[in-house]
Amino acid sequence: METDVIIIGASAAGLMCAIEAGKRGRRVIVLDHANKPGKKILMSGGGRCNFTNYQISADNFLSHNPHFCKSALSRYTQWDFIALVDRHHIPWHEKAHGQLFCDHSARDILNMLLEECRQYQVDIQLNCTIERVEKPDARFELTTSRGGFQADSLVIASGGLSIPKMCASPFGYRIAQQFGHPIQPTRAALVPFTLQPQDKARFADLTGVSVDSRVSFHNTAFRENILFTHRGLSGPAILQISSYWQAGEPITINLLPDQDLLTCLAEQQRQHPQSKLKTVLGQLLPKRLVAVLFEPALLDSPLQHLSRHQFQEISEQLQHWQLIPAGTEGYRTAEVTLGGVDCDALSSRTMESRHVPGLYFIGEVVDVTGWLGGYNFQWAWSSGWVAGQVV
Ligand SMILES: Cc1cc2nc3c(=O)[nH]c(=O)nc-3n(C[C@H](O)[C@H](O)[C@H](O)COP(=O)(O)OP(=O)(O)OC[C@H]3O[C@@H](n4cnc5c(N)ncnc54)[C@H](O)[C@@H]3O)c2cc1C
Repeated sequence: METDVIIIGASAAGLMCAIEAGKRGRRVIVLDHANKPGKKILMSGGGRCNFTNYQISADNFLSHNPHFCKSALSRYTQWDFIALVDRHHIPWHEKAHGQLFCDHSARDILNMLLEECRQYQVDIQLNCTIERVEKPDARFELTTSRGGFQADSLVIASGGLSIPKMCASPFGYRIAQQFGHPIQPTRAALVPFTLQPQDKARFADLTGVSVDSRVSFHNTAFRENILFTHRGLSGPAILQISSYWQAGEPITINLLPDQDLLTCLAEQQRQHPQSKLKTVLGQLLPKRLVAVLFEPALLDSPLQHLSRHQFQEISEQLQHWQLIPAGTEGYRTAEVTLGGVDCDALSSRTMESRHVPGLYFIGEVVDVTGWLGGYNFQWAWSSGWVAGQVV
């Protein structure tokens, strides 16, 4: 089958690119090995798809080349995507930190994309295994389980490695390598931490405890909740810092980010000298957590018996808690893949390969990784849109 554009990956980036190319009158075929399109869209944002964020800037993305994402993000912005969502009368709301979610279901976003694809006669073929990709001349030739395809432009929108159960595959990296593109090393990001055995045993009873915290690694910090789970540590602040964390190094957790704990303890000591430490700390933090972090004898001490040095140690423990994670839960639960197709080999304006004319990479397969909060979808929309203008 001959066509103008073949896109591999029928999800966020691929469908956006298909719509835009379709609008320009290009004949577009989207191939996907999954049995349904947009599986990750459907599971995103707890089923409500955090589809973008009011505040988008290059600072919200990690990449070997931190400037690369600027062009696409400025040409197709969060406001453009919000306008599209509004044109389809999809109800949405803002949550904390400018994050925008569907009121009802992530399916609204997928249906919107599929409706636009229908409008521009995009042909989506599912259950399609791509066996071979070749470029004997100016055109690309694909051998697949659904037969042979030829096209002028080939767009790789096959995503990263996270959640293999949702049909993630290293396909995009393999194609990049086949055509001589460098890959920035990949690893799981926006992912919960696992704990060292002694920490795991110590925190075993804290499953479900959530604490508003400031979590930092080197110069990067996030202020959101952390969550103790039966496997380790999760919650938005942990997922965010996981993208920056380097194995073997400690993260720092401030469990009382708004408090000057030392002053607070000294004040309490003056006003309520007979109060026990556990009573004071129990007013600031979940009691179960306090009970795990300190010895019972210390917790039962009246404040009047505690020294300033002890107050300093308590403050240090709660506000400068250094924890070395054992690792992460890996691609099984990670929201995204850090690293990917090296940006330096792509045009930031069009996402076209600098080495192979007609070959494009968009979305998560590229070495651009957003923070938690709608940034990864915005990258998928923006990079898909810019490629869609030229393929
Ligand atoms: C649980 C979860 C929740 C998330 N929530 C959010 C959120 O709320 N907000 C946000 O911004 N981001 C969220 N993300 C991240 C976001 O889903 C991704 O960044 C985004 O989907 C990337 O879009 P993409 O089109 O590049 O890749 P994907 O959405 O991963 O799509 C890739 C497509 O390529 C297909 N494919 C893969 N390999 C092959 C192959 N070999 N042959 C043919 N087809 C192939 C796949 O089947 C898939 O359809 C979440 C991720 C997860 C896992």
